[in-house]
Amino acid sequence: MAIPYGRQWIDEKDIEEVIKVLKSDWLTQGPQIEKFEEEIASYVGAKYAVAFNSGTSALHGAMFAAGVTKDNEIISSPITFVASTNAGIYLGAKPIFADIDNRTYCIDTSKIEEKITSKTKVIVPVDYAGYPVDIEKINEIAKKYNLVVIEDAAHALGAQRNGEKVGTQADMTMFSFHPVKHITTGEGGIITTNNEEYYEKLKIFRSHGITKDETKLTRNEGIWYYEMQYLGYNYRITDIQCALGRSQLRKLESFIDRRIEIAKKYDEAFKNNPNIQLPPKKENARHVYHLYPILVPKEKRSYIFNKLREKDIFAQVHYIPVHTQPYYRINYGYKYGDYPNAEEFYEREISIPIYPKLTNIEQDYVIKTLNELTK
Ligand SMILES: *Cc1c(COP(=O)(O)O)cnc(C)c1O
Repeated sequence: MAIPYGRQWIDEKDIEEVIKVLKSDWLTQGPQIEKFEEEIASYVGAKYAVAFNSGTSALHGAMFAAGVTKDNEIISSPITFVASTNAGIYLGAKPIFADIDNRTYCIDTSKIEEKITSKTKVIVPVDYAGYPVDIEKINEIAKKYNLVVIEDAAHALGAQRNGEKVGTQADMTMFSFHPVKHITTGEGGIITTNNEEYYEKLKIFRSHGITKDETKLTRNEGIWYYEMQYLGYNYRITDIQCALGRSQLRKLESFIDRRIEIAKKYDEAFKNNPNIQLPPKKENARHVYHLYPILVPKEKRSYIFNKLREKDIFAQVHYIPVHTQPYYRINYGYKYGDYPNAEEFYEREISIPIYPKLTNIEQDYVIKTLNELTK
């Protein structure tokens, strides 16, 4: 059986919880959503959480709450999933990148300021692979220029800096519940924040821009009355999904511990291999290893990748630098060569299997195969 780079772990308890909702009165907009939001907020230590039907729609909501318009620019890392910047493009903003730092694989915080213009509205740092970015430095810059920080923590649920969980340090933080992420709801995402104004906007945006809150209505024609005050979307998550998410959340800590254990074993197995560069470590932080990205010599990357496939190890490459995507080149004039660190990283990167259900036997096979292929 093939070994993927990541996958979910659904057990009988998860299935039972979903079945309960299927037999209940509410399939969507019932009690599970709020409970899931409360549990995630409480887990990361945030005041508020608003769940969405994907991480991408959650990011879109955060951009809206931040007030992003077609006159704005947003700054992110080129080594991320396209959703990080697409979310700003949905509102007409222009995506700007600052190159990555070779030591963290995250945005180089010393290169952000030179990208800021009078149009800049938002910085979107990404906790690549589960490594928590230097948010203090980013917040400092944001404060100086009056910008909003939306942390893309799709890889970093449960990650910590100085004992504090990712999810409260940025103005808004996004987590994804796609099946390869730390816990899953099938599709799903959430924004955590301590800011009440953002919280209110996120809720309205998720549901067509409609409000029924009497204190916010411009008039009131009766108890049936509601108003659409913004152009929102149907980005609601279902109760079915949230029941799964709540059940998964109970296992999150053990999932993370297992990921860290797998990462340690890889570290040990490859530390003396000159052709494998290990992922970065961070002091006083908890890296949660959504990915285990190794760097191999550029000339050998395709060979190693293809051989892994032949041997049933389905590694991946994270990510194709976003600025090199045709849509970005055509619409924003980006070219190969614009972000050399990101491009060099991409040419050398392979994400090898890491997920809680990976067995020791499977990991030993991955280690043996990789050590042979990189000899
Ligand atoms: C998964 C992911 C997203 C988007 O999440 P979806 O839930 O798939 O929409 C955004 N950014 C990064 C870095 C991701 O890995």
